[in-house]
Amino acid sequence: MSHIFPRSCHGSRPVAVSGDGCFIIDQSGKCYFDGSGGAAVSCLGHSNPHVVEAIKEQLDSLAYAHTRFFTSLPAEELASLLIAHAPEGLEKVYLVSGGSEAVESAIKLARQYHVERGEPQRRHVIARRQSYHGNTLGALAVGGNEWRRAQYAPLLVDVSHIAPCYEYMDRSADETVEDYGLRVANELEAEILRLGKDAVMAFIAEPVVGATLGAVPAVPGYFKRIREICNQYGVLLILDEVMCGMGRTGYLYACEADEVSPDILCIAKGLGAGFQPIGAMLCTGAVYDTIAKGSGFFQHGHTYLGHPVAAAAGRAVLKNIIDRDLVSQVRERGRFLERKLRERFAAHPYVGDIRGRGLFWGIEFVQDRMGKEPFPPEVNLANRLQKVAFEAGLLCYPMSGTRDGKNGDHMLLAPPFIASEAELLGMVDMLEKAINSVLAPQT
Ligand code: PLP
Repeated sequence: MSHIFPRSCHGSRPVAVSGDGCFIIDQSGKCYFDGSGGAAVSCLGHSNPHVVEAIKEQLDSLAYAHTRFFTSLPAEELASLLIAHAPEGLEKVYLVSGGSEAVESAIKLARQYHVERGEPQRRHVIARRQSYHGNTLGALAVGGNEWRRAQYAPLLVDVSHIAPCYEYMDRSADETVEDYGLRVANELEAEILRLGKDAVMAFIAEPVVGATLGAVPAVPGYFKRIREICNQYGVLLILDEVMCGMGRTGYLYACEADEVSPDILCIAKGLGAGFQPIGAMLCTGAVYDTIAKGSGFFQHGHTYLGHPVAAAAGRAVLKNIIDRDLVSQVRERGRFLERKLRERFAAHPYVGDIRGRGLFWGIEFVQDRMGKEPFPPEVNLANRLQKVAFEAGLLCYPMSGTRDGKNGDHMLLAPPFIASEAELLGMVDMLEKAINSVLAPQT
C-alpha cells in the first residue's frame, strides 16, 4: 500500500521510473509522450545531459549555504543571465522554490514598497476572474478560480476580480478586437476608482492565461492600456509568467509580445524545467531601491531561497534555451503545431476555439459552436479526454469547471521545446483519436 498522500484519493497512478527526451516511461515499460510538459514544466524534455551534469557538479562542490550568510555562484550567475535578457527596467532577482512562492513574494514586495513610500493605505490587489496564481493562501486569494477558492474563502484576503481578456467567449459580435481589449482593460480603471484612487497596491495577471483557460493570450493593445492605467494610479503591475514564461510562448518572457514591462515578474516552471524546484521574482530598480534606501530589508524569506543546486539547474536550463536558440525553435515548431491543430480540429463540431502562442496551445470544447454553450459539468469532458489520451500514451492537461459559475472544458498542450515535427504530429494524432473516441463527430 502506498503511503503517499495523493492529489486525488480516487484511483491509482502508474509509477514513473525514467525519462527519455519527450517521453516518460512507467514501471511496466509503457512510454508516454509528454504533450503538456507535465503542467508546462518540462521544456527541455526529461533527459537533458547538460542540466543533469550541472546539478551533479554543483552537488559535488556545495549543496547548500543559507542566504543569511552567503550568496552562491550559480545564484549570482542565474540572476545575471535572467536580467541580461529581461524586459526593460527589471534589475533584481529574488530566487525561490516555485511559482506560488514567487507570487507570494511579489504580493508582499508590492505591499512593502507602498508602505515604505509612505502609502500604507494601499492594500488592495486587483486580479482577474478565471485566473490561477498558486495554491498558498496569498496566491490563492489573488487567483480568480472559484472552484479552488471556494472552501478557503474565509481565510483569503479581500481581492477584487475584474474580467479576463478572453476574446473567444467575451467579445461581442459588434465590437472590434481593439475596442474589446480597451473595454476589458478599462475595467481596471473603474475598479481602482471604485476602491479609491490611492487604495490599490497592485494588479496581477498572466500575459497568456494557462492553468484555468488553456493558453489564452490577451488581444493586442490590452496590456498596453493596463500598463497606462497602472502608471496613472501608482499601481504596481505584477505579471505572472510562472507558466507562460521561459520561452514557452516563443518569447523568453511572454510579455515581450505585448510590448509591456511589468514592475514585478514571476517565473517558475520552465526555469527549473522539472530538474529542480525553482522560481524567481524579478523587480525593477525603482521597486528595489525603495526598500534598499528605506528599511534595507525585504520582510520575507524561506530557508531554501537561492538554493545553489536549484540555481545551478536554472542556470543550465536558461543557458540551454539561449545557446541553442530554442526560443526561435519554439516559434517555428509552434507554427507547425498550430497548423496541424487547425487542420485537424478547426471544423470539429465540438471544438469552439483553438488559441495559443509558441508551444503553448489550448483547445476549448463546447456542445454548441454557434451559441458557445459549454458541456454540462456532469459530462466531465476534459477529464475524460485526458484519461483516454493517457491510456493511449499521451499526457495533455485538462481544465474543467472553472468558468464563473459555469462549466468549461479546455485541453492544454505544452510539449517540450525539443519535440520534433514528427513527435508533434504524433501528439496531434493521439489527441485526435482521444477526441473522436469521446466525442464522435456528427455525420
Ligand atoms: N502561477 C501560475 C500562472 C501557475 O500556472 C501556477 C501553477 O500552475 C502557479 C502560479 C503556482 O506555481 P507552483 O505550482 O509552482 O506553486
